[in-house]
Amino acid sequence: MTYKKLELVEDLREQLKFLKEIGVDSLSVDLPVRTAEPPRETAHDDFQTYVPAKNEFKAETKQNREAGRKDVRRRSEILQNYKLSERKQSAESPKSPESQPPKEKIPEVTDTIEKTESPEESLFGDLSRGLPDTNESLSDIHKDIGSDCERCRLCEKRTQVVHSVGDPQADLMFIGEAPGADEDVQGEPFVGRAGQLLNKIIEAIDLKREDVFIGNINRCRPPDNRRPLADEAEVCKPFLLREISVVRPKVIVVLGNTACQNLLDTKVGITRLRGKFLDYFGVRVMPTFHPAYLLRDPRKKREVWEDMKKVREELNRQNASDS
Ligand code: SF4
Repeated sequence: MTYKKLELVEDLREQLKFLKEIGVDSLSVDLPVRTAEPPRETAHDDFQTYVPAKNEFKAETKQNREAGRKDVRRRSEILQNYKLSERKQSAESPKSPESQPPKEKIPEVTDTIEKTESPEESLFGDLSRGLPDTNESLSDIHKDIGSDCERCRLCEKRTQVVHSVGDPQADLMFIGEAPGADEDVQGEPFVGRAGQLLNKIIEAIDLKREDVFIGNINRCRPPDNRRPLADEAEVCKPFLLREISVVRPKVIVVLGNTACQNLLDTKVGITRLRGKFLDYFGVRVMPTFHPAYLLRDPRKKREVWEDMKKVREELNRQNASDS
């Protein structure tokens, strides 16, 4: 078996272990269909202002399922074209063709912080323009989402929509996959046992919870603690991206396999991605293990500590270059 296959098996084993621990004993997965349509030209503003219709979610019928798939494809196009439009702008300056990866290329993983100093080595090509400018506030975004959001099927079993919290000018942002049971009741992300461990991780790099910004890709608790599906993540993710544009963190820490894959649109597992900085719309992203996984396997804390040391170093480096 090749090394790549062994890694895939390792990722799969990790995920199955997790599912077994949370009581899942059978699985039925509706895999998303990849569209072969060519990307449409999309304005930079599309990304910033795109808001899915508020009550888009309908009961599962054949017709609604097909309509839902079209909406998901449309959102994927908007995000993908945003990336492509950034690459197109960067292509106007002379640059070698190797610096522009093809659309479906698996993200480049860098070896060290130093190796990604150049924007040419960013995740989706040259994103030196970074995040779009925005005049909206976090409360504008939360108002858009609404407390009765029904844009995806996660609305069916949730108690409440759980918005991101923290310093709106934070240098550091943490992103998880979705609220759990405690978060669903309290209406705040990362407040259960995993949240308490996250607080300790934050304190370990000399910050406090209120100094950072914390959110999830999906804002409603998936039933039976299952993982959010790709189409559910696609619907909710634009709101998180708008929040990132408002907060403009220097570093994002993305927690766990599902959040990492949904945020970065990649199928590469967390075991391979963690510990190395990626660039995402010009923001440095550090993938690492989810605190809930550390509660199940405390031996992985050492790796997370190594990742967080790199995050601290990167924040120090950026702060020093700002002053
Ligand atoms: S997860 Fe996001 S898109 Fe889905 S219902 Fe909740 S707030 Fe709306």
